Amino acid sequence: MPKLRRTVGDRVRGFVKDWSLPRQIAGESPMSKAAESTTSRSLRPRLEQADTIGTSICPFCAVGCAQLVYAKNGKPLHIEGDPRSPVNQGTLCPKGGATFGMLTSPQRVATVLYRAPHATEWEAKPLDWAMDRIAFLTKRTRDETFVEDLPDGTKVNHTLGIGSLGGATLDNEENYLIKKLFNGGLGIVSIENQARI
Ligand code: SF4
Repeated sequence: MPKLRRTVGDRVRGFVKDWSLPRQIAGESPMSKAAESTTSRSLRPRLEQADTIGTSICPFCAVGCAQLVYAKNGKPLHIEGDPRSPVNQGTLCPKGGATFGMLTSPQRVATVLYRAPHATEWEAKPLDWAMDRIAFLTKRTRDETFVEDLPDGTKVNHTLGIGSLGGATLDNEENYLIKKLFNGGLGIVSIENQARI
């Protein structure tokens, strides 16, 4: 039957055994394993379990810091900065360092919430449904509000019925595509991005 509780004697014996001073007196270098205890000797790095290391880009801002994603059986174990990146050289700011928590938090909202006009309750909807609805409303609004000429005859080919407000996570290339699609393709002129880095 294994002992469930350590007695005071066990604790004292464990302390003396793990205490670095007697080990150093017995000849162990104070620079080597002086801080090692029975417990720390049995610990293994968490990342040793990873069977895959993937690469990603931090999703939070347009700096675009590179990340390494350690995973086991397809599930992420840890995310850290990629030292090969000339942008962040292995570092992440506190936001980027919290990517693992953001990805795996049980509080993360994983469905689209929709509140129909005049409704008082939100409904959970699939992402595909939301994308189709956004495309439908964008096309309808653009068609209803598109102006080719101003009253004085000035050619404008624009709509003031739709605006776009981007987030900090959008990078250069994404903003380029947004400008191309919204401005050049749809005639939207109210386009803004929050990123100011
Ligand atoms: S949020 Fe921080 S870690 Fe992420 S890209 Fe921006 S600076 Fe880099």
